[in-house]
Amino acid sequence: MIHNIFDPSNTDTICALATPAGTGAIAVIRISGPDSIPLTSKIFFPRNKKLILEEANSHSLFFGEIKNEDAETIDEVVVSVFKNPKSFTGEDSIEISCHGSIYIQQRLIELIIENGARLAKPGEFTLRAFFNNKFDLSQAEAVADLISANSKSSHELAMKQMKGGFSEKIKNLRVKLLNFASLIELELDFSEEDVEFANREELLSLIDTLKKEISQLTESFKVGNVIKKGIPVAIVGKPNVGKSTLLNALLDEEKAIVSDIPGTTRDVIEDTFIINGIAFRFIDTAGLRESDDHIENIGIERTYEKINEASIVLYMIDMQECTEEIMQDIKEQFQECIEDPNKHFVLVGNKIDQMVNIPTGFKDLLDMDITYISAKRKENINELSEKLVKSVQERQETNDTIITNARHYEALTQALNSILQVEHGFHSSIPTDLISIDIRQALHHLGEITGEITTDEVLGNIFGKFCIGK
Ligand code: GDP
Repeated sequence: MIHNIFDPSNTDTICALATPAGTGAIAVIRISGPDSIPLTSKIFFPRNKKLILEEANSHSLFFGEIKNEDAETIDEVVVSVFKNPKSFTGEDSIEISCHGSIYIQQRLIELIIENGARLAKPGEFTLRAFFNNKFDLSQAEAVADLISANSKSSHELAMKQMKGGFSEKIKNLRVKLLNFASLIELELDFSEEDVEFANREELLSLIDTLKKEISQLTESFKVGNVIKKGIPVAIVGKPNVGKSTLLNALLDEEKAIVSDIPGTTRDVIEDTFIINGIAFRFIDTAGLRESDDHIENIGIERTYEKINEASIVLYMIDMQECTEEIMQDIKEQFQECIEDPNKHFVLVGNKIDQMVNIPTGFKDLLDMDITYISAKRKENINELSEKLVKSVQERQETNDTIITNARHYEALTQALNSILQVEHGFHSSIPTDLISIDIRQALHHLGEITGEITTDEVLGNIFGKFCIGK
């Protein structure tokens, strides 16, 4: 039988391994649906022989054995009982904690399926939680983000979203707009009588609020995305100034390195370091790939692209070669970048171990800080790390709600477009029935975010990205 898992009336009993595939000390198998408790009761033989699983309280644990139809013991397990509605999915659920051998995991799942459950599709447990109003769509998406969060700041963002602050905001905006939509539509019913139920001034002021709040959210996407994927830092400088040596020094300093960040599909090498809980994505630029002239040329062009993409541009100079002229050149060359309020330009003077004195005067010339380091001797690397962290924290504090999800960004952008249409409509005296279409459009896009409006396609996109068992 083919199940449309996106049909909320589809409530058969599903099961899956909830812990990662592979061997572990223990593994957890999750069962959810109306038959989960009676089904488990058929294969579970509790140590307490008087126990009747169907009568157990929610949130209770039982020790016992799982046996197959030939009364062979497959494993000793702990069974947790969760009763509807007090479970993750909102349905009756069972979690079986078994020993973590792959053989046991497979045998147990086979046995559960033989007894009437079906293997869950990816994300199906979370999907059911959504259908049972355990949380809305944007919160369900936050569950996926939470699982993949690899730094303190991306974890904080996901946690915030899961708790629903962002959804609340969208829902409030939507309710206000919905009230107006109803009043406007009521006017249409009385169109021959030329009445106005919806106060135009209030509507225009609501539109202003919506414009402001939605734009703030769409603008926060850049920041949000950056936090999720790591703050892009372009390391720029002439060949041999010590850029690779600095990367290695950072690598030594920051033991936690993640090289495989989900969602990055670039062809260039990017090392991600977690410093003070913030992920920084260091972007390899031309100077790091100087092996071949042809590549070097392409590299210079790409360096400029990378500088454009980066939130932080770390420009490195070799202090041995540093002259006032070079400094002036850098200042002119990077003027735009230095003045860009959305970027941080961090100047690093390397190889101070080779200097008798650190030259003075450059600071005034450039009107900016220089961080002096020796990448090779790992001197002042901490000071540099702190500077990077500080530059990010300054910016994060200005944003309260941050969106990180491309789907939300898309829906908000479309909602904003419709709102602008509504505004334009009122100012150019377009008939009310046409304006009400744009208001409905805006409502539709806002509703897509929290899941008040859904299609199988949207649900498929979201829940298909989850792993089986989630
Ligand atoms: P890149 O081309 O900018 O990546 O430069 P590298 O990191 O490959 O370094 C070029 C040369 O400078 C190497 O021989 C490094 O050992 C040397 N180097 C890098 N940092 C320092 C430093 O702080 N002090 C000294 N004395 N040499 C350094």
